[in-house]
Amino acid sequence: MKIVVLKFGGTSVGTIKKIKRVAEIIVGYKKKNYKVIVVSSAMSGATNELIKKSFEISDNFSDSEHDVLVSSGEQVSCSLIAGRLIHRGYKSRSWLSWQVPLLTVGAHKNSRINLINKNKIIKYLKEGGIPIVTGFQGINSQNRITTIGRGGSDATAIMLAKFFKAERCIIYTDVEGVFTTDPNKLKKAKKIRVISYEEMLEMASLGAKVMQPVSIQDARLNRIDIEVKSSFIKTDLYKAIAKNYQYLHWEKFFDPMQPNAFHLATKSKHRKRWPNEYSLTPFYYLNFLLEKNPTTIYDLGCGDNSFKKYI
Ligand code: ADP
Ligand code: ASP
Ligand code: MG
Repeated sequence: MKIVVLKFGGTSVGTIKKIKRVAEIIVGYKKKNYKVIVVSSAMSGATNELIKKSFEISDNFSDSEHDVLVSSGEQVSCSLIAGRLIHRGYKSRSWLSWQVPLLTVGAHKNSRINLINKNKIIKYLKEGGIPIVTGFQGINSQNRITTIGRGGSDATAIMLAKFFKAERCIIYTDVEGVFTTDPNKLKKAKKIRVISYEEMLEMASLGAKVMQPVSIQDARLNRIDIEVKSSFIKTDLYKAIAKNYQYLHWEKFFDPMQPNAFHLATKSKHRKRWPNEYSLTPFYYLNFLLEKNPTTIYDLGCGDNSFKKYI
């Protein structure tokens, strides 16, 4: 089965108009004969609103009830997507995590997916259905609803791709992919075509919320390529996070001859020469450092022309 997992973030399903657009993207894959599994986040802002309500009830709101409460956001968006696909003449339905079921381990608010029961979804796919699965949640061994941490729908998508052996796993968001830094904050941010899990993990851990850190770890463990695309702008296809780049990593080093300079160089097990393309970490560090101290000299130490142009 040629399966594709499509994940739509809150930014992609934030309004009814956007949900209609998402339905058209899904139809596009269906027309290309993919068996499509959709994962959706809650409409943007919905999860925060629910959390706010819990604080108004108690400043020590129960963790298990927190999960029941916040998981409801995805129920809304998934049913709206499925409803739109049905309106368009397609067979579709929402699948809440307990209906799949999608099993988690660990504490409430911060569980991890460890097993996805495939049978019902496979049967549904074979019947031509488009399942719309709630992201960010699961059930535990006590049959309680759990959530897997903020931004967790990314991890849901990756685990679905793993268990269903999907050909592709595509994360749809509001920007055109992964950039050297937040493109909404810095206009000069550059789009990165391919980066390693390690670099993406580092960037996500430093706060780039385009991908949730746990989801990158899951992708790395299971060797899943992730494509990151915009729900709003049509772009050429490219892979954002790919397994064959796993060996690249960058190192900061101090040069006594130029104590005020900040050098970055790379090591690669694959290449003899310095790779000079789309290296994330230096850009990321440099954006960060330049913001702090624009007068310091920075040197990549690998003859990267695009970098020189960049500063
Ligand atoms: P979604 O709702 O699709 O999950 P998020 O809001 O969680 O989307 O993440 C997308 C946002 O991540 C973008 O709007 C962008 O502002 C931000 N972002 C931060 N750093 C980066 C980066 N390096 N590349 C792309 N987007 C980034
Ligand atoms: N709706 C959840 C959140 O806002 C999960 C997600 O968006 O991925 O954190
Ligand atoms: Mg997100």
